[in-house]
Amino acid sequence: MTTLSIMKFGGTSVGSSEAIRVAAGLVRAEHAKGTRVAVVVSAMSGVTNLLLEGAHSASRGNRGWQDLAATLHTRHADTVVSLLTTPAEQSLVRERIDTHIGEFRALCHAVEVLGEASPRALDAISSLGERICMHIMAGHLRESGCAAEAVRSMELIRTDATFQAARPDFDTTRELCRAKLLPLLQNRTVPVITGFIGATAAGAITTLGRGGSDYTAAIIGSVMAADEVVIWTDVDGVMSTDPRIAPNARTLPTVTFREISELAFYGAKVLHPLAVRPMIEHGGTLWIRNTFNPTGPATRIVADGTGSSSAEPLKAVTAIKDQSLVTIEGRGMLGVQGIAARAFGAVARTGTSVTLITQASSEQSICFTVPSPSTERVITALNSEFTGELSRNEIDRIWDRTGVVIVSVVGSGMSTVAGIPGRVFTALGNQHINILAIAQGSSECSISLIVAAEQSDNSVRAIHNLIVT
Ligand code: ASP
Ligand code: MG
Repeated sequence: MTTLSIMKFGGTSVGSSEAIRVAAGLVRAEHAKGTRVAVVVSAMSGVTNLLLEGAHSASRGNRGWQDLAATLHTRHADTVVSLLTTPAEQSLVRERIDTHIGEFRALCHAVEVLGEASPRALDAISSLGERICMHIMAGHLRESGCAAEAVRSMELIRTDATFQAARPDFDTTRELCRAKLLPLLQNRTVPVITGFIGATAAGAITTLGRGGSDYTAAIIGSVMAADEVVIWTDVDGVMSTDPRIAPNARTLPTVTFREISELAFYGAKVLHPLAVRPMIEHGGTLWIRNTFNPTGPATRIVADGTGSSSAEPLKAVTAIKDQSLVTIEGRGMLGVQGIAARAFGAVARTGTSVTLITQASSEQSICFTVPSPSTERVITALNSEFTGELSRNEIDRIWDRTGVVIVSVVGSGMSTVAGIPGRVFTALGNQHINILAIAQGSSECSISLIVAAEQSDNSVRAIHNLIVT
């Protein structure tokens, strides 16, 4: 059987007529080699944000969505004008744009009347960018001599009804994908599929969550037993750090499943965290490549325990900005059960996600970080949860330090090489950087440090110098 490649193009890779031309060129080149190719597209860059902005403004009774509808229409129509050349393709795609922007207006109007944007409505609205983009890409591929057909992923990806974070039913999805895609591939026709979107058994449109197109590509890759999934993006794969902070940053040729999970969590925006497992499990290859530098360096995601050597125990360092360190402190907490449970319960009720936790065995303080915008809500909730303990002085104080960052060092080789934390701390000490809190999971695949925001870049550079020597 010939190779099957799933090529996924992110928002910037389909962000303009020029970008779509480049992306389509990559598809044609692969197709011309005899590879069976399926394409998954994101919405044009920025479009999903605008769609959601429209929905939210409508729910507040604000008519701003009408201007957004016009903006979205122009952006897509202009792309068609500068990209498509044949009248037949042009009118076909323009008709789709009109239909979908019409749908956007109707949905926003409904949301405005109801005064509420339900998760289900948000999915119907936010899916429109992919649904338009698919037609533009398919039309351009056909015009440039490559048989292609637009395929709605609502007909391929069966999900539960968790709108905005829907999860696939792999068995049904496998059947749907094989039935629809195999005949096309057999015919040398390239299916051009919407990323990000699925549908429930009853046919309601769902989305897999922001950035979910990567996940779409991985799901399709896994159920179709593809040889490879290539995530085409706008950077040279996964870098050892942000090149804007450390110009000597370099592309990591391989990154393990666990490493990418740690990195994705800590803000390396290259890959949706759920996209890794399906591909690794079925044994296919997952690549991250740069659409605008296709022959440049790329990253291959590999199974844990492979591709990582103890010769390079540290691989990457990232910083999550704009965090606050919250401390609950008191001598009366020693040995008292349930303090942590109540603290995190109170935080959870504010709708805040905790980004790092540490508690020493003396149990005299619990420290954790939360995104800065939530600080006030969190402190208020904790004060009210622990009113009794505060008045009895079992808890001395609950306080926050804003303006901190989480610097996270990742590398699975760390677990087999002794002395890595020591090297990290020495590197920071040499720069007179004060570490406010430390967390290392038992997986020993990453260490996270809290430092003051103004020392963020210096910390990243100091640690990065241990990686790239
Ligand atoms: N367009 C969607 C988003 O912006 C999905 C994606 O691009 O992966 O979140
Ligand atoms: Mg993405």
